[in-house]
Amino acid sequence: MTALDDKTIVKEYFNTQGFDRWRRIYGDGEVNKVQLDIRDGHQQTIDTVLAWLAADGNVSSLTVCDAGCGVGSLSLPLADAGATVYASDISSKMVGEARDRATNLTDPAKLTLAVSDLESITGRYHTVICLDVLIHYPQADIEQMIAHLTSLAASRLILSFAPKTFGLSLLKKVGEFFPGPSKTTRAYLHRASEIITILIDQGFHIERKNMTSTRFYFSQTIEAVRN
Ligand code: SAH
Repeated sequence: MTALDDKTIVKEYFNTQGFDRWRRIYGDGEVNKVQLDIRDGHQQTIDTVLAWLAADGNVSSLTVCDAGCGVGSLSLPLADAGATVYASDISSKMVGEARDRATNLTDPAKLTLAVSDLESITGRYHTVICLDVLIHYPQADIEQMIAHLTSLAASRLILSFAPKTFGLSLLKKVGEFFPGPSKTTRAYLHRASEIITILIDQGFHIERKNMTSTRFYFSQTIEAVRN
């Protein structure tokens, strides 16, 4: 399958049943136990990234590109922390939801939202962040995607993905991500070593790493800094 086919499927999913499912998981309303576990795990990933940026003490001077921003779970708190954020997503429904949630921002001018495939993003940002997006693409697609993200990053790229180390047991659990009779998309696991090799080839080195694991959510976050 080509990258275009994969993107078409993922985009369609996040504009239909994927939108309904993930908007609820990434919200604060009532959800089932599995969804609550995924919500908590995802929030840990968001909190880790926010804590990394806060620890550097320069959030308000940062320009950040949030590629595949979803409903704005990271972009909204980052904009409220003073960063200048450009956030985009391939799904117009996810961006619409992010737009609704952005009405509560302290300074709405800090956040620009757009519908865009991450490979069509242009410009240069101090920090580029792409969380829980690569899980939707096979190994054959991600090298090009990561290379494009590094080209946008003046200083660093923060990525998260579901690591392959958990093997089959994880694959089974990840099945919970996409329940229902017709699984319109699936979860792909990636070896950290393969992602790190791509980043090193692009002239980056790894500064910080975090692994978030709950019962149904697994995400490895890596901060790669330009050499
Ligand atoms: N990064 C967000 C959302 C994760 S859900 C967060 O952590 O909260 C994955 C998101 O990636 C979905 O909103 C989906 O529409 C988006 N996405 C998938 N493929 C994409 C692509 N090729 N370009 C941009 N966004 C993409």
